[in-house]
Amino acid sequence: MTDIPSVPLLDVNRDNSPHREEFIEAISEVIDSGRYLFGLDVSELEREIAAYSQVENAVSCASGSDALLLALMALGIGPGDEVIVPSFTFFASVSCITRLGATPIFADIRPDTFNVDPDAIEAAITSRTKAIIPVHLFGQCAEIDRICQIAGDHDIPVVEDAAQAIGAAYHSRPAGSWGLVGCFSFYPTKNLGGMGDGGMLTSCDAATADRLRLFAGHGMRPRYYHQVVGINSRLDTMQAAVLRVKLKSLPQAVENRTQIAARYTRMLTESNLAGEHLVLPTVDPNAFHVWNQYAIRITGGQRDALRNHMAENGVASEIYYPVPMHQQQCFEYLKVEKDSLPETVRASEEVLNLPIFPSLTEAEQIRVVETISGYFASGVKAAA
Ligand SMILES: *Cc1c(COP(=O)(O)O)cnc(C)c1O
Repeated sequence: MTDIPSVPLLDVNRDNSPHREEFIEAISEVIDSGRYLFGLDVSELEREIAAYSQVENAVSCASGSDALLLALMALGIGPGDEVIVPSFTFFASVSCITRLGATPIFADIRPDTFNVDPDAIEAAITSRTKAIIPVHLFGQCAEIDRICQIAGDHDIPVVEDAAQAIGAAYHSRPAGSWGLVGCFSFYPTKNLGGMGDGGMLTSCDAATADRLRLFAGHGMRPRYYHQVVGINSRLDTMQAAVLRVKLKSLPQAVENRTQIAARYTRMLTESNLAGEHLVLPTVDPNAFHVWNQYAIRITGGQRDALRNHMAENGVASEIYYPVPMHQQQCFEYLKVEKDSLPETVRASEEVLNLPIFPSLTEAEQIRVVETISGYFASGVKAAA
């Protein structure tokens, strides 16, 4: 056991504590109002997120997973339809497709950004393709301009999975404003994290936004008259109140993440760790990266040993994601060949996510880098 304090993967309490009084005040107002669903905080948050994402419409819902599901429901996706999606993503990007009886068609990723490859999307399009779900992974937009161009040429709607990318942009245009629908998550670890679950849908198209709201509210309009079979997916008023407090400091949180990422890159470069064995994150010059994750690649089959070494030294890390979706037990029935997505498989074997959150300190980052350095000082010798 070590007497040096450990470095956590993230520390939600530390990030939230400066706003404690504001949170309590905002929640107290909701309690006193007696309105726990809908109300001013929900409608104002929708307006604020729409403005932040530079779209006309925003519709709140219960989670990022529901946002994705609602987007596909509103598009009428069902059995026989194909939806193109990366396999190197979180489960919810794919389960929304299979839950509606449609078939996910997996597109491989680019080795540099880990984001879905537009060429792979184009190659996967068939007459049955009814939607494309690019995922803006780790806080960096996929090549959404090209993806929307390809989709537009085939008249296929784009649903952006921007769960990890609120505030990110491509060619200065925000994540969630490119496709027909943008999907956001307020899960506590996301860049705009609530104190529970929450989600938001954005759309530049008023008719689409109206359909999303219809599906999120039991398909009911007017009351007790059901036009379509929707679901019940609402953002609690208390969550909206908390999120409005946090939204005010989101630009500062992104600024902190940007500085932390730049510092990791500088430290790893200056300690001669960056190179063939440890590949630094690639920033697409057209992207404004919001660094939900700082994802490095550890090659040569050393990733898991390094991660164990870090854990033994009190430094947390994570693997997003160890098992690609096409290799998940629940998707075995799709019979996707492992070899058909080589970059996805390689990323799942090599990716390592370092601690990053707005209040991570420079001293903690030094410990992270020193611990990695300690591993390679012994490990590389062993390999030689
Ligand atoms: C977090 C996440 C989701 C799901 O969001 P929840 O709010 O947890 O349901 C979907 N897609 C991606 C890429 C995510 O990271």
